[in-house]
Amino acid sequence: MTGGRSERQIIMNKNYDHKETESRIYSAWEQSGAFCPPEGEDLPADKKTFTVIMPPPNANDPLHVGHAMFVTIEDIFVRYHRMKGEVTLWLPGTDHAGIETQFVFEKKLAKQGKSRFDFDRETLFQMIWDYVKDNSGVAIEQMKRLGASADWSRYKYTLEPEIVKEVVKTFIKLHEDGLIYRSVKLVNYCTKCGTAYSELEVDHEEREDKLYIIDYGKLKVATTRPETMLGDVAVAVNPEDKRYQSLIGEKIKLPLTQREIPIIADSMVDMEFGTGAVKITPAHDPNDWEVAVRQGWNMDEIVRDHQVIGTNGKMNKNAGVYEGLNINDAREKIVNDLGTALVETKPYLHSVGTCYRCHRVIEPLPMKQFFIKVKSLAEKALTALDSGETTIMGAGHDKILRHWLSNLRDWNISRQIVWGIRIPVWYKNDDFVVSETSPGDGYVQETDTFDTWFSSGQWPVVTLKTNKPGDFEAYYPTQVMETAYDILPFWVMRMMMLGIYMTGKSPFKYVYLHGLVRDEQGRKMSKSVGNVINPLELTEKYGADSLRMALVMSTTPGQDSATGENKVRGMRNFANKIWNASRYVVSMEESGIDGDNDQELMDNLNTHIETTTKRLDELKVGFAAEWAYSWFWDSFCDQYIEIAKKGLIGKQAMLKALKTNLILLHPFVPFVTEAAWAEVFPDEGMLISQCWPKLP
Ligand SMILES: [Zn+2]
Repeated sequence: MTGGRSERQIIMNKNYDHKETESRIYSAWEQSGAFCPPEGEDLPADKKTFTVIMPPPNANDPLHVGHAMFVTIEDIFVRYHRMKGEVTLWLPGTDHAGIETQFVFEKKLAKQGKSRFDFDRETLFQMIWDYVKDNSGVAIEQMKRLGASADWSRYKYTLEPEIVKEVVKTFIKLHEDGLIYRSVKLVNYCTKCGTAYSELEVDHEEREDKLYIIDYGKLKVATTRPETMLGDVAVAVNPEDKRYQSLIGEKIKLPLTQREIPIIADSMVDMEFGTGAVKITPAHDPNDWEVAVRQGWNMDEIVRDHQVIGTNGKMNKNAGVYEGLNINDAREKIVNDLGTALVETKPYLHSVGTCYRCHRVIEPLPMKQFFIKVKSLAEKALTALDSGETTIMGAGHDKILRHWLSNLRDWNISRQIVWGIRIPVWYKNDDFVVSETSPGDGYVQETDTFDTWFSSGQWPVVTLKTNKPGDFEAYYPTQVMETAYDILPFWVMRMMMLGIYMTGKSPFKYVYLHGLVRDEQGRKMSKSVGNVINPLELTEKYGADSLRMALVMSTTPGQDSATGENKVRGMRNFANKIWNASRYVVSMEESGIDGDNDQELMDNLNTHIETTTKRLDELKVGFAAEWAYSWFWDSFCDQYIEIAKKGLIGKQAMLKALKTNLILLHPFVPFVTEAAWAEVFPDEGMLISQCWPKLP
């Protein structure tokens, strides 16, 4: 025992003060270089690496509790693997979040009485750029507060030039491989947000609307959308339907306009629904569009002459006297004008597609857009799941992902917004050229930008390819992708499809999906209920360790968990327990005891190491946290410290057990363990860089 050590016994404060400790310790970690593994090219080819790519939060948003969850879980993984001696990289970044961010910015403009249409494209882009830049430090600072041991020297942003270049290159490659096409198709269009969406961005809500039965002369049709009858091109019946067989091939006159349209047969018509006869309006209904394609009709003509609703959500010139009315007003007026041709109106419960951003009803509209042919990409992702190249953790989510991959439609990647990566397509007359830069005079660039998931879907590849020399070769494929289960189809699926396409390898070995963080009563957190917890306030009040422990305890992949202020407050007691137990052990009198108790402690300690290690290896972070918590509290504190107080166990055994516990607890509660370590083992370097204990 040195003199220094005994002085320290006096210095070690009675209470653990997270406010005094956390920022000091974080700076020391950063300065030690512990977060930053070597450049890829400096690593021997066979060196075992452990890589986690951080799901990039929106650059301009403060963190919510879901972010705190991913920071905690991922930080546990990387601290554990770092201590195991693996070359560990946690690569952070932020996302420009296309529509989300433009939407927020437009709300801000609206408050100033302005809209995006008041600015030209370049000005608007620059304004959003500046706005994001002004707010982008927030998320990073907050992640640091939570203890994120990410390598900030490798930080990436989705709109930085090197990333944009890679994303554009992928599009060009897809085009060269014949996987991109431009086509008029019905897209899911939000007339409020002013952009098309992919099928994944459409929510489905049950709504009660009306079903209108309208007399079309020779037969009656049932529809929920009488306003689109102005764009009808046919009436369809099922070829098996005995009631209508004699009418197939005949013509009828559309009520209101008296335009002649044919009666056709198509087996998609459900004989049981309504009257068994349906109007066919290809420009405004995806099923009808497919009927028209099957019939071999000229789709360009249909769009030119029979699209009756425009992207502004109003009736267009093809709607004749109804031009200029919005959809609901047109419906009301048409229902009125039908007079006796309207046979019946009845309530009707059905599922309606709504915008996931603004909840307005999605309008299927014909537009020329760029699509990716997804079939071959999806098949390869399925193969990666089958072969075990990638494993999805979290009950039932593997099945959900397979379902998505097996039923995916071609991916519409055009978005009519400025905040994003502009599609590298150039037009001259009717021709278009795909090229990184302008192919020459007279060409103008496409104004649409990529779906934001097209760039984030390449994230693991592009963040490593544009990083330090050799990083991609050394750190790809990564080990764990940890994210919220609700973006499984948006993001994880696209990363697999594009990652395999770009590199031949699935970007990650394991997908760990965390659930929603609910309140202590299991309710969804929402502003209106007032049960939202703010991770930063709780960190301020109780310390980052307490919040982390509250979040991780009892999490199970793929399932929601419950956390609230009480739970976080409770975990502060745990941080204090670690501090006080450490204080007690350093203050123990040296004694020569080396008896049964010492041996039993060492044996139990081995079980502790074995169980914690096994659970962390299996990515069972919740179970690992519970085990480490209980062992420390129930065995070390309640059992062995009590024995020690009676003088029946030696100080050396207690110091060894404390040392092991601080290491095993470090991934979960990094600050208090590091602070205690510095007091008890001041000559042994920082805890973050200690080796994970091996079993004898
Ligand atoms: Zn919308």
